[in-house]
Formats: sequence, structure tokens, C-alpha cells
Amino acid sequence: MAVSVQLRGVTKRFGETVAVAQVDLKIERGEFFFLLGPSGCGKTTLLRVVAGFYEPEEGEIYFDDRPMHGVPPHRRNTGMVFQNYALWPHMTVYENVEYGLALRKVPPAERKRRVMEALETVQMERYADRTPNQLSGGQQQRVALARAIVIEPDVLLLDEPLSNLDARLRDEMRQELRRIHQQTGLTALYVTHDQREALSLATRMAIMRDGRIAQIGTPREVYTEPTSAFVATFIGDTNLLSGRVLNRDGGGLTVETEVGTVFVSRARNFQVGDRVLLSVRPEALHLAAEKQGRPNEFPARVLGTTYLGSLEEYELAVNDALRVTALLYNPGRTVYAPDQNVFLSFDPADVVPLVWEASD
Ligand code: ATP
Repeated sequence: MAVSVQLRGVTKRFGETVAVAQVDLKIERGEFFFLLGPSGCGKTTLLRVVAGFYEPEEGEIYFDDRPMHGVPPHRRNTGMVFQNYALWPHMTVYENVEYGLALRKVPPAERKRRVMEALETVQMERYADRTPNQLSGGQQQRVALARAIVIEPDVLLLDEPLSNLDARLRDEMRQELRRIHQQTGLTALYVTHDQREALSLATRMAIMRDGRIAQIGTPREVYTEPTSAFVATFIGDTNLLSGRVLNRDGGGLTVETEVGTVFVSRARNFQVGDRVLLSVRPEALHLAAEKQGRPNEFPARVLGTTYLGSLEEYELAVNDALRVTALLYNPGRTVYAPDQNVFLSFDPADVVPLVWEASD
């Protein structure tokens, strides 16, 4: 049965290193929750704390209202899926999946039914008699998933499960994971570096930085309403303009930036005089050969273009003061050449004001 997972003030240290710092988090029943962040930010450590492989120095973990303090990993009823599959090489697919049920002393008839059901869920029932070395990477990962779900875990924990697969197989497995999650209704916690995986699968996600949670939200919230430059640049690409607030009125801001005056339709908590960074996504930038008379319109020069099939990416210099990237759909209709002078514009509603921070 799926449970909720709650972390309260969880801190995990390794000597001097604080791998996870004061994390508060509630994952609801049936969520597909992602932990995302740069290498070393503490994602795997947090997953292992939930699994019970590490006891935190501070804080508490609850599965529903059951405290997990002192409960060893094998009594937490979690299913784990790792990057390297971790299948038993000398056992068949069937035996690998059956193993956890045998450990739990499930009667043989029920075992057989559950193993076959789990293999069907991951569409591997035809491979039951093979050994792992007779399977492709994608097939091995399906078996690893069957082995994790067959025990009917309270929480499914996945640590970069797709990172050993090639790009096409990853795409295919992403769809599979979504289907399996919907079918099983499990509470799942998934660690990845891969923002595509997180954006496409997560019900909600936490972006971590230096052991702390920088932001929690649905993929759409995190992408469209980042609360820091760190999150804005980690999830997707963005252009950052630095400036100072000149005026605040009617829920919006006027900001003096390095390229000129920019209107922003959300004010957040910013006040006149504050230093800010303005985030504008590449796909929010419009280009035109002639001046259009739009708000936030600036002369720019095309530095270079990259053809990406359905998209065309432009590198531009704005007012010779700032380099930006624009992403245009349907290239081929209008193509601007390197060195061409153009007008670049963006909607005030597409600008997100962020607390100023020095770039790393
Ligand atoms: P990656 O994406 O590279 O796997 P991560 O976000 O999962 O990184 P963690 O593996 O959780 O990061 O590591 C967080 C921090 O804790 C790092 O500074 C790491 O060096 C440190 N760390 C992790 N495990 C140990 C350990 N067993 N002993 C000492 N330090 C550790």
C-alpha cells in the first residue's frame, strides 16, 4: 500500500561534509516525486536516508504516521532500483524477481502469480527463463523494476535508473515508467540529474543545492516560476539580465538593466532600489527584422545560429551589451543571418524577477 513520506529537519553528515542539511519534505501517497540537482548536492544521500541505509544525525522520517527511526532497511518495505540494475547474474529473470518474495516467505503458489504479474507489468514475461547476461540494458532495467514492485513496496526508490541506457531507450523507458506508476499507484521517489526525465514524469520535484532544498513544486511551477537564479538556470536554459528596480506599481516593476529599461509584470517582493536578476527563457524571445513597437524591444545583432530541426537557436548581442540566446520554432519561414541587425522583444509577463546573486 502506498504511504506518504515525511522528512522533518533531516540532516546527514559524513565527517565535515554536510550531505543533507535540515530538509523538510512531504511526499503524498501515490506521488511520483523527483529529487534533482547538480552532482554532489545530496540527492542519493537523501534517498538512502529514506531507504534506511543511513541514519540521519538530526531529524525524523515518517511513512504515514510511523516513525522510521531505528527501523532497518529490510523492515521499511521499500523497493529499490539502481542505475546498474544490480541483478543476480547466476539467477534467471524469474528467480531474480521471486527472490524478495522467497525472503518474505510468501507461499509458492502466490509467489508464482505475483512474479508473473510483475513481469507482465514490465512486459518481460517472455524472458522469464533467461539470465541477465542474455538481456539488453533496457530489459535488465525492466527486470530490476519488476523485482522492486513485486514485493508491493510502501515506497519505490529509484536512483538514476535510466542513466545507463541510450537516448532512445531512455525515452521509451520514460513512457513505461509513467504507465507503470499509473498502473501501480505507488509512492515513488526518483533521483536524477536529468531534467527531461523530471519535467516529463514528476508530479512534483525538489531542486537541491548543497544539501538543501532550493525549491519544491510541480514541473510547470518550477520552470515558469523559479524562485532563484540557481533554479532558473538549472531547470532549462535562461537568459539573465542584471538591473535595479526603478519603479514598482500595479503589481509590476520597471527595471533599469544593462540593455535598457525592462518592464516586468510580476513584482514579487521587490522594492524600488533593489538589485535584481531578470530571467527570460530563450523561447520567450521574439525576433523581427523591423521595429514592432512592442514593450521590452531592443536592437540586437545576430552572432550565430544553430539549426536544430524543429527549432533554430540564435546567439545575439543586445545593444552590444549582453549576449542572449533565443529559441525560435518553425525555422525556415524566417531565418536571420549572422551579422544581421534585428529587433528582439519579450513580453513583460515572461520576465521573472529574482534575487540578485553573483554568478559562480
Ligand atoms: P551525484 O549526482 O553525483 O550522484 P548526489 O547529489 O547524489 O551526487 P551525494 O552522493 O548524496 O550527492 O553526495 C552528497 C555529498 O556527500 C557529496 O559531497 C559527497 O562527496 C558526500 N558523500 C556522499 N556519500 C559519502 C560517504 N559515504 N562518505 C563520505 N562522503 C560522502
